[in-house]
Amino acid sequence: MHLDDPSLLRSLCRIGEEWVGADSQEVFDVVDPADGRVIATVPRAGKAETRRAIERASSALPAWRGLTARERGVLLRRWHDLILQHRDDLARIMTAEQGKPQAEARGEVSYGAGFIDWFAEEGKRIYGDIIPSPFPGRRIMVLKEPVGVVAAITPWNFPNAMITRKCGPALAAGCTVVLKPAEDTPLSALALVELADRAGIPAGVLNVVTGHPVEIGAELTSNPLVRKLSFTGSTAVGKALLRQCADTMKKVSLELGGNAPFIVFDDADLDAAVAGAIASKFRNSGQTCICANRLLVQDGIHDAFVDRLVEAVGTLDLGPLIHGRAVEGVERLVNDAVALGARALCGGTRRAAGGNYFDPTVLVGVTPSMACANQEIFGPVAPLIRFHTEDEAIRLANDTPYGLAAYAYTRDAGREWRLAEGLEFGIIGLNESMVSTEVAPFGGMKESGLGREGSKYGIDEYLEIKYVCRTG
Ligand code: ADP
Repeated sequence: MHLDDPSLLRSLCRIGEEWVGADSQEVFDVVDPADGRVIATVPRAGKAETRRAIERASSALPAWRGLTARERGVLLRRWHDLILQHRDDLARIMTAEQGKPQAEARGEVSYGAGFIDWFAEEGKRIYGDIIPSPFPGRRIMVLKEPVGVVAAITPWNFPNAMITRKCGPALAAGCTVVLKPAEDTPLSALALVELADRAGIPAGVLNVVTGHPVEIGAELTSNPLVRKLSFTGSTAVGKALLRQCADTMKKVSLELGGNAPFIVFDDADLDAAVAGAIASKFRNSGQTCICANRLLVQDGIHDAFVDRLVEAVGTLDLGPLIHGRAVEGVERLVNDAVALGARALCGGTRRAAGGNYFDPTVLVGVTPSMACANQEIFGPVAPLIRFHTEDEAIRLANDTPYGLAAYAYTRDAGREWRLAEGLEFGIIGLNESMVSTEVAPFGGMKESGLGREGSKYGIDEYLEIKYVCRTG
């Protein structure tokens, strides 16, 4: 891999001021999903290294939280600038380990940097309160304080932005962090930490441990020095981590799976609906938690929408899926749907040439009971379900334990409000499918998670409220 600055390619854990291997000296491979080539090896660290990282984060905490928000903001801003300066290299590293095309990777680096910039500012606006007292002579005050050492566990689908979305607000609030990146994409995480170091963020404030997820996770969730866990990943792992955090009563944020409905009504702008469906469904080859998972299309527009969608899918040039297991999972969902009567109008199979590629697929004749309409597909497959009435669409859309994102295309303003209020999802796109931005609250209802990331609300996840009552 060519990099303008080869020293961004780090392959050791970062604990305090040191780049270190695993105590056991064991490593694991980081593989390019496009061709299976080994790009690097990184340490297979476990409990002991994680404990040291937590202790180091804890010892760095008093000085870091003791800075003013502005002082922390200056350092974060420098980190942000360095990330943008090295955007092309960070994107090259990301494409190599994750597979998304360069343009998407560069887009993610900019989007990811946005969280650091936003929270560098937002840290200055962590206001407390003075509450009018019902008792003469007493003063009631509310202070906000950093929660303490934060554990962050991040997924491979956004190897950069899921880290900055947690570390930006955590560091701005005055917390220190131990990060465990996904084993598929540790290099993007390590490059970010290298840049944090160059920005002058003090050693110990941001630590990274790569390695065994279960062991590292067990230490992060049981160590009493950790006061907060922020996790993005699958619902199954999120539930397990929430249980594990119960014994030490950590504050927990979870951003988990989704099953996003994408509803197209008869009165939709067809061009906008097709463009929105393509962007929402096929971004990152369908591997985002807010990707359209089920396309609910009203009778009157169904056939025209299908024709246009298939035509647009024909022009796509997608990256590979993350690994062979992901391809197998998508293949299973498609085969199951076809066996039950759905039809693939395009795609439907893995790419014959090899690699982890799956051809972009449009499935018609899907019914709500098929597995592809109930499970998160996490691949480039668009299953279409017909509906007749608005009530039916809302009922179908809500008929899932998930509640992350939902999209709807319609020109009826009254209906837009009924949808905004009737859909049980944390994020609603109305005639818009690109909803992610650092300035808006991102997060799910129901089994899609707890808490919100980004926006003025995102920093609350890293703060404790302290009530001070004073007399005299
Ligand atoms: P995905 O299915 O998208 O890979 P996962 O939930 O398995 O989602 O992974 C998201 C993150 O959670 C990754 O960093 C992964 O290493 C981590 N992870 C997986 N299992 C555990 C576990 N038992 N404890 C802690 N972290 C885990």
